[in-house]
Formats: sequence, structure tokens, C-alpha cells
Amino acid sequence: MILRVLSYLLYVLIAGAGIVLVLDKVETSASVENKVNPCSEPVTYQIASIDDNFDISETQLRRLISGVGSMWSNAVGRTLVEYDPDGDVKVHLVYDERQQLVEEERDFNNAIQMEQLRFDRLHREYTRHSDQYDEAMERYNNFLGEYQRNVQEHNDEVSKWNEQGGAPEDVQERVVNRERELSGMQSELRSLQNDVNRAGRQLEDVTDRLNEISIRKNGLIDEYNERYAGEYRFSQGDYMNTGSEQRINIYHYKSINHLRLVLAHEFGHALGLGHVDSPGSVMYPVVESHGTTEIALSDQDIAAMQARCGR
Ligand SMILES: [Zn+2]
Repeated sequence: MILRVLSYLLYVLIAGAGIVLVLDKVETSASVENKVNPCSEPVTYQIASIDDNFDISETQLRRLISGVGSMWSNAVGRTLVEYDPDGDVKVHLVYDERQQLVEEERDFNNAIQMEQLRFDRLHREYTRHSDQYDEAMERYNNFLGEYQRNVQEHNDEVSKWNEQGGAPEDVQERVVNRERELSGMQSELRSLQNDVNRAGRQLEDVTDRLNEISIRKNGLIDEYNERYAGEYRFSQGDYMNTGSEQRINIYHYKSINHLRLVLAHEFGHALGLGHVDSPGSVMYPVVESHGTTEIALSDQDIAAMQARCGR
């Protein structure tokens, strides 16, 4: 029996190559910044709209904004952001193709992870069957060696007596007994061979299934890379101040911590800050370098806010 070689290819998911998250593209102009003076009087905000597609309540959103507001307030030791049902800055959670794309990408990624889990589980099974096959083969080969040695001994003895023209009775009896033993060994050998074949079929079956998963997983990864490896650069949110209206639009986020970061960033603009150029700062314009685990102001963020308030 010829066993198929395990032919799975391991594709590497090009992680994070797809979507570049830019915090925003709309910047406050200098003239607009000057109109905002949060240091003498807090900036007030209201929740203007939350698209139904976002899984967040107004209360949760207010709690998050209150948290990021405190973060900025602590930098200067006074309250900078305040909720007001008629507040000046209108916060909108706007659902568009950006959020949709991110959700699709996440689902796609999950599907690949699921295949990977199935693959890993089956691969453990493969290893077990492979060991079983090797063991059965070893038992068969050892016993085959022993059988062949016995046959050789037997044949040598028979030839020796035949050359002498025949064997005495007691030897004849021994030879007949030996033949019986050898025939018993033959059936044992056949049984061991069946074990090998059975183990081989099981191994082949697992290998087939492993290859199937592998092909499916690789197909998904190819498709993922094709779909998302092109650079999708889009903004998470923006802050606009037209003079008559102030507005924060949030377009998408991956997690609550990510939303917290986007809010902290956009409220930074609402408080009159521009961008800082140190990666990891809340006011740095690209998300990737922040990480979105624990949001905290950097020294540069704090210094910018303190400068804004003339400290
Ligand atoms: Zn920005």
C-alpha cells in the first residue's frame, strides 16, 4: 500500500497588511482652533445620533466620552468636557461602508481562525495515527525477521538431512513440529499485516481530511489577502467646526477600546489640539502604532493640552 504524503501547504496570513486606520483627515484650521477655548469654559457635547448598526447605547457612549473627557481634564487639573443635552459639539455615530468593511474583515479572519483550529485538532489526530502506523509496521517487520530466520534454520536442517539420505525418526518428528510452528507464525504474520493495513487506511483517511481542510483554509487565506491586502486607508472619525456648528463623526471602530481612542482623539481636536508626531500618542494620526489596548495620554498629549491652556 502506498501512503499518500501529507501535502498541505502552510500559508501565512499577511496580518495587518490590509486596513490602515487613520484617525481622521479633517483638521481644524488655526482660525477654527482659536474659537475653541476649553480652558476657561468646558466644551459641551450632546449625543446627536447613533446608527442602529452600532451595538452601543447612548448611556454607554456618554460613559466613554465622560472617561476620555476626564483624561484630558486631568492633564490640566480642570474640567474641559461636559455633557449637555443642548451641547455645542454634536456627536454622531455614522455607519457606512467603512464599518461594514471592518466587520467583514473581522468575520473573515474568524472563519480562517476556525479552520486553523480544525486543522490543529485533526493534525494531532494525524500524529496519533501516524505513530500507530509506525508501531504496527515495526511489529510486523520484527516478526517477519524472526519468521524468516526460523524458515532459514528449518530449510538448512532439512537440506542437511536430505544430503545424508534421510533423517532418523526422532528428527523427523521435530521437523514436523517445526513446520507446524512455522505455519502458526505465518498466520500471526498475516494478522500483523492486517493491522498495518488497517492503520494505514486510517492514516490515509485523516491525511485526506487534513488536506481538505488545508485546501479550504488556503483558499480562504488567498481570498482574504486578495480582498484586504490592497491598502484601505480610511478615517475612523472626524471633527468639524464650521463656525456655526461643531460636529464629531465616528465612522467605525473595532472594539470599545478602539472607540475610546477615536473619541479621545476627536475630543482632543474639539479641545483645540492638532496632531502630535510621536507614535503612541492619542493625538498621533495613525491608529496602528497606538495599539488599542489601554488608552492613556502620552507626555506629548499632556504637553499639548497644557500649552493650549497656557501652562
Ligand atoms: Zn486627527
